[in-house]
Amino acid sequence: MQQMDPQSMVPIVKPALRRGWRDRTTLQFGMTPAHAVTLGPMDPATASFLDLLNGTRGPALLREEGRRMDLPDGHVDALVERLARSGLVDDARAGGPAADALRAKKEVLDRLRPDLASLSLTASEPGEAIGLLAARRSLRVQVRGAGRVGGVLASLLSGAGVGEVDVRDVGRVEPGDVAPGGLPSESVGDRRDEAARRAARRSAPDRPPRRTSRTRLEGDDPGFSLVILTPRDDVDVHAPAPSAADPLIASGTPHLYAGVVEGTGVVGPFVLPGETGCAGCLHEARTERDQAWPRLVAQWRSGRQRPVRPCDLALATTVAGLAATHALAFLDGRVPSSAGARWEVSLPALHWHARPVWAHPACPCGAAEKGKGGMRLQGRGVARDNGGATTVEGVTP
Ligand SMILES: [Zn+2]
Repeated sequence: MQQMDPQSMVPIVKPALRRGWRDRTTLQFGMTPAHAVTLGPMDPATASFLDLLNGTRGPALLREEGRRMDLPDGHVDALVERLARSGLVDDARAGGPAADALRAKKEVLDRLRPDLASLSLTASEPGEAIGLLAARRSLRVQVRGAGRVGGVLASLLSGAGVGEVDVRDVGRVEPGDVAPGGLPSESVGDRRDEAARRAARRSAPDRPPRRTSRTRLEGDDPGFSLVILTPRDDVDVHAPAPSAADPLIASGTPHLYAGVVEGTGVVGPFVLPGETGCAGCLHEARTERDQAWPRLVAQWRSGRQRPVRPCDLALATTVAGLAATHALAFLDGRVPSSAGARWEVSLPALHWHARPVWAHPACPCGAAEKGKGGMRLQGRGVARDNGGATTVEGVTP
């Protein structure tokens, strides 16, 4: 991340935050408690000066405008620095070479502008948001399972700017796999993995660079930033087999589970191998709580395949969307709330709740051992006050 330098910035007050006067001297940026900030006391001259911070003027020009508006010497620089420190301004030119390359692709950036504006809400440093968006273009993510959830999820990640979304599955597309935003009806009968990759590519804002045969290798490619397991099989959603994730745990590959089982949508756990609870931890904890658990799982696995598994289309799409936001939060450098938890929602009342997935000492992943020394769950960002608008004092000359 680039360090803020008010002397070289081309500042823009984040357009993503709506402005409103709380009283005659206090200006609130943003509407929602999660991201709102208030500035005050603020005089009318400073307030109208904010309009000039729109990404078209560098420091010299801004100082000149400040003098014209009779603002005291040094006030402009102090104001910009203060705003930057409060996370209220972005830098229209910062973010590094990858960001510059993205800015040069106007059509691509136009597709992603709402995502960029959204990233600006959680980014703390000027230039950070476009830096993160540009960084997504070099990331590789694998989605395992291309049913209603996986197909939509792969397209969402691709559409959000993730450079390479690989999809793994077996068999051919069935009519019930078709979902808006996921596998199209024309793909029925095609190979599932190929159809889902095609759908993901079509959702991309940009044509990805051609990849070498490296990506065609079978097995667990340690080069993936994240693997998302979206099984079509409902038993695998409810009781993910620990052995399936062994190579991911061994290679230290972060992974996330998502799917629909009966009338319940599940997102999580998001697993940082050796740091947060994994499928093995989940299995151990369930066995401890309920001695019948392994017996039930064995019966579910060996039972006759039903011709049709229940999967509500809207619920599957909801799960895909929520899993994609958790995945993107991680790819953008944060630790999502699905780390150490499974978010679950059941038809028809649709109350969301998170069930904890504790690291278990009997699980070979080692997360429980690590947990004793304190978890390293640090994202890139800064903690924000979620209770109400954060207040920043003193912006009057
Ligand atoms: Zn574990």
